[in-house]
Amino acid sequence: MVVAMPNHREHADAYQTALAQYDRAVRYTSLKDDLIDYMRYPRRELTVNFPVRRDDGTIEMFTGYRVHHNTAMGPSKGGIRYSLGVTLDEIRALSMWMSWKCALVNLPYGGAKGGVVVDPRNLSLGELERLTRRYASELIPLMSPQMDIPAPDMGTNAQVMAWIMDTYSMTVGYSVPAIVTGKPLSVGGSEGRTEATGRGVIMCMISTLKHHGYHDATATRIAIQGFGNVGSHAADYAHALGYKIVAVSDVYGGIHNPNGLDIPAVLRHVKETGKVHDFPDAENITNDELLVLDCDVLIPAALEGQITRENADDIKAQFVIEGANGPTTPDGDDILNDRGVVIVPDILANSGGVIVSYFEWVQDLQAFFWDKDDIFARLGRIINNAYQQTQQTAEDLHIDMRTAAQVTAINRVANAITTRGFYP
Ligand code: NAD
Repeated sequence: MVVAMPNHREHADAYQTALAQYDRAVRYTSLKDDLIDYMRYPRRELTVNFPVRRDDGTIEMFTGYRVHHNTAMGPSKGGIRYSLGVTLDEIRALSMWMSWKCALVNLPYGGAKGGVVVDPRNLSLGELERLTRRYASELIPLMSPQMDIPAPDMGTNAQVMAWIMDTYSMTVGYSVPAIVTGKPLSVGGSEGRTEATGRGVIMCMISTLKHHGYHDATATRIAIQGFGNVGSHAADYAHALGYKIVAVSDVYGGIHNPNGLDIPAVLRHVKETGKVHDFPDAENITNDELLVLDCDVLIPAALEGQITRENADDIKAQFVIEGANGPTTPDGDDILNDRGVVIVPDILANSGGVIVSYFEWVQDLQAFFWDKDDIFARLGRIINNAYQQTQQTAEDLHIDMRTAAQVTAINRVANAITTRGFYP
């Protein structure tokens, strides 16, 4: 039996990071102290311990969470993560960031996040399905298309979402595609959802490069940590637009070619071998080496807590575009800001995923589906507007992009709370 031993220090840090960012941002608002205190708290937290039958017939216990941070602007929205590193504190942090992200891009949603302490690579397909269905059934008191709508995150994918949709539908007795987003197209998924987060990251990168006078795609060197949903689609889109991807990595390590990687060939290599390492036309490097490579743009697209006090001074990229949630700690932020490195924060840079998830939910509720061109055009309008607004706020208040994005988002959530009033 694999015993999950989550690293509490690392993930307690994610929540400390979220709260430290919040405390920094509220200084630039005129909100009253009681309202500031209100928004520090998650609204609801559910912990579930549940059994799963392994293929050998034994029963193993697993722990999962779902946290709704704030629901003033609408039903809560946020992914489900399967990882051995999942803790309640990590899920709290991620749910808070979802509240700010949805508000920043003006979606009618609050923030949520869920997770199960499990390494999905240690489960067979049947075990993964049983774990997912049992976790989904445990969430039903807190989940509905009007209340809380999950989506994929690290370690989960469209198939996992299809099992959640089916479990919920079997329980209520009819099909409810709008219960979850990031589903396969065959059960009410949206065109473009799989690529949406990575594409949005690159859209933000392009706006940033333009703003700072970088116009030559072929001369722009990009390093990407994480080659899953976000990292691989960001790499693929940027490569198709002519940018030079000099390094990518996954949990096993990275690869580097200063002349640029052939990303479609790397994707084929990963499909065949399960990892990026040992790609013929590149040298193997570690994840630590990737973060400090000589490049123009660094895209952390794996997990939180990667750019810290320990390595921020060594980062050579001029631009950090956060594909992952929470990849930079507050100390890392301070060092990069002092050095003049531009950071496009997670709640803006990776918002493409939740934006197209919103489109999927709207399409499911209307039972009327849009084509990919329509999806990407709408995605571009929303994310580019949010980018311009964040850039403007940063300039007006003389603050960094992360604080600017959070100020805008926090003010919107605060406005919804006070407009609704305090029940009873
Ligand atoms: P994924 O599971 O598809 O991919 C994760 C990638 O990171 C994999 O390549 C994995 O090997 C790698 N990885 C895992 N642990 C690592 C480690 N310790 N060091 C280096 N690499 C490691 O997950 P994803 O959906 O691409 O999510 C990645 C990040 O983006 C997460 O922070 C997630 O919260 C965030 N995010 C995802 C979405 C989405 O739509 N999927 C949307 C917004 C934000």
